[in-house]
Amino acid sequence: MPEAPKILSGSADCIDDIVVENNNKVLKFIEDVTADADEVQRRVLSEILSRSANVEYLQRYGLNGCTDRETFKKVIPVVTYEDLKPDIERIANGDTSPILCSQPISEFLTSSGTSAGERKLMPTIEEELGRRSLLYSLLMPVMSQFLPGLDKGKGMYFLFVKSEAKTPGGLVARPVLTSYYKSSHFKNRPNDPYTNYTSPKETILCLDSYQSMYSQLLCGLFQNEDVVRVGAVFASGFIRAIQFLEKHWSLLCKDIRTGTIDSKITDPSVREAVMKILKPNPKLADFVEAECSKGSWKGIITRLWPETKYIDVIVTGTMSQYIPALDYYSNALPLVCTMYASSECYFGINLNPLCNPSEVSYTLIPNMAYFEFLPVTRKDELTGSISEPTALNDKEKQQLVDLVDVKLGQDYELVVTTYAGLYRYRVGDILRVSGFKNKAPQFNFICRKNVVLSIDSDKTDEVELQNAVKNAANQLLQYEASLVEYTGYADTSAIPGRYVLFWELSVKDSTLIAPSVFEDCCFTVEESLNSVYRQGRVCDKSIGPLEIRVVENGTFDMLMDFALSQGSSINQYKTPRCVKYAPIIELLNSRVISSYFSPKCPRWTAGHKQWCTQN
Ligand code: AMP
Repeated sequence: MPEAPKILSGSADCIDDIVVENNNKVLKFIEDVTADADEVQRRVLSEILSRSANVEYLQRYGLNGCTDRETFKKVIPVVTYEDLKPDIERIANGDTSPILCSQPISEFLTSSGTSAGERKLMPTIEEELGRRSLLYSLLMPVMSQFLPGLDKGKGMYFLFVKSEAKTPGGLVARPVLTSYYKSSHFKNRPNDPYTNYTSPKETILCLDSYQSMYSQLLCGLFQNEDVVRVGAVFASGFIRAIQFLEKHWSLLCKDIRTGTIDSKITDPSVREAVMKILKPNPKLADFVEAECSKGSWKGIITRLWPETKYIDVIVTGTMSQYIPALDYYSNALPLVCTMYASSECYFGINLNPLCNPSEVSYTLIPNMAYFEFLPVTRKDELTGSISEPTALNDKEKQQLVDLVDVKLGQDYELVVTTYAGLYRYRVGDILRVSGFKNKAPQFNFICRKNVVLSIDSDKTDEVELQNAVKNAANQLLQYEASLVEYTGYADTSAIPGRYVLFWELSVKDSTLIAPSVFEDCCFTVEESLNSVYRQGRVCDKSIGPLEIRVVENGTFDMLMDFALSQGSSINQYKTPRCVKYAPIIELLNSRVISSYFSPKCPRWTAGHKQWCTQN
């Protein structure tokens, strides 16, 4: 198997040579691992299975220590999270026997995908941090082929940690990025010009989102001339930073002018780290003030950070809704999507990072995990939705193909077998083969299966939305009103974005229903949505209050007529539970009678409902 590149670090006088050497090593590694993709995959599977020969899960299915693909595919089922839940709960409750993995489970990663309204729990092992670091180490050498000189400046990245909880068995449960930023891989990273960020680690590790954002922006503004690239993980996070700046620039300018830090920033480690950077700079304060107080914020990124060459954020999948806003704020700087990853596994990277966002394709790195692909048929873009993953029948099981056998243009659901103990696990993402790098396929990210609404990292599926709407609409019955039809829409025209539901009602006497009844309905929908949604509302403030727009009677008939006029089949027509197509949204908006907002935030606590929160 091609060896992971050993990244060197060094002192300032020889750093240029080291950067070149490291870049070459990484590019060679990518060449080798993609050229030999099938053999690497064979060895990855064999390594995973030989290490896990004693685990209960594989023994349960009678793998008997076999490590070859054929036996593995024959005896091990293709599963979803729900299938693994009993095993995962045993681990969460403190069973330390080798249930899924022979190595000790170091922590749980809490996915933004949910099960029964709670974040999914992905057991992980210590060595996975090394695998994640490896994927990160590939990104900048790839980028540098297209944009030289990135090692000479800094990256202004808005990175955040989220709260953690403890499972009843005592394992920490937290999002994968929180785990990574708190690990020594990030905190004690070697001196590398590509991980030279404007944000000191203390500002990233501060749990208070206001203090973290404020101090990261302050440091970013203060070092504005050094910044050559800016970013966040997802586009929504970057837009949130710009919005924060719009609100707080005058306070930030005051701090830049005086070289002090606002008293609202109380975390001593943050204050100390920022004060190591900050000096009084009235000239810079005047400049920032002048730019921010101009009426328009068009191009604010390039105005305040003039050397910026690109914005590094994920804008594929549901994040594509933020492309127009990013283009506006940056005067259309390149939007670069570097990687595709999840709590289950880090999958791959974009080898052509300056491509148009609509053409982004990710090359899965064959030594990250063992990958299989389940062919899926395309959904009806206008009205269709892909249903919940169901158990596969025998024929479908046989259709799963290996990494090197996928066909150009075909859509697949990604299935992974990981070093941390997931075997033939359906990730839930739909990918389309767009090309090949040597023998390794490249994929466009098409969608997350069955997600109907998403603003930030929340992923609301059709069933969750249906249940939430049902809970809320029940409140109308006492007013002799009922819900006839509904659909949803993620409105990101303002920041933060919000879920908008269009409701058509059958009502005897609408004057009997006070606005507060509909506001309660908004709140009930929010209370019924999953914990990632509620965390976005309460903690991150990345999602605004849910809105219900009541539409005139007959609106949903018009919607059906419209869909039929666009080629949908009358027999198969179902009201779409989410709409994205602008003419449909216009139609719905043109029929709105009244609109209502959720009056308060829903309840949210860290960890699963039944666990105690760790401070
Ligand atoms: P999580 O489980 O919270 O770590 O989220 C992982 C999921 O985020 C993936 O399974 C994808 O659905 C989505 N995701 C991650 N990276 C990308 C990307 N580059 N483009 C689109 N979606 C992504």
